[in-house]
Amino acid sequence: MQLICTNRCGGTIFRALFAEVDVDASGEYLGHRVLQPTYICLNCGSPALDLGAVPDAILAEELEDEPPAPLEILCPVCESRVVVGSERECPNCGAYLEEIEI
Ligand SMILES: [Zn+2]
Ligand SMILES: [Zn+2]
Repeated sequence: MQLICTNRCGGTIFRALFAEVDVDASGEYLGHRVLQPTYICLNCGSPALDLGAVPDAILAEELEDEPPAPLEILCPVCESRVVVGSERECPNCGAYLEEIEI
């Protein structure tokens, strides 16, 4: 079992919610039933996911959500390869970078 918070808050403590406890009229414990395994993150209260029980298809889908590889362009001034983020300036020479495919 590998629990992870669906909110990705980094919480590492989870509470199991799967047991339904039966009591009689005076509150005496009679037994419990195991319901569908459910856990919550004690850090933020979000439902937790058992990565060990997640079908591979869902994990594969999550992998496809990875951001695309950063755009790498060639600085027209100093000709160094630059990974373009929000900045459009060459970190080496400060030149404005246009989108040029390498
Ligand atoms: Zn959480
Ligand atoms: Zn440059």
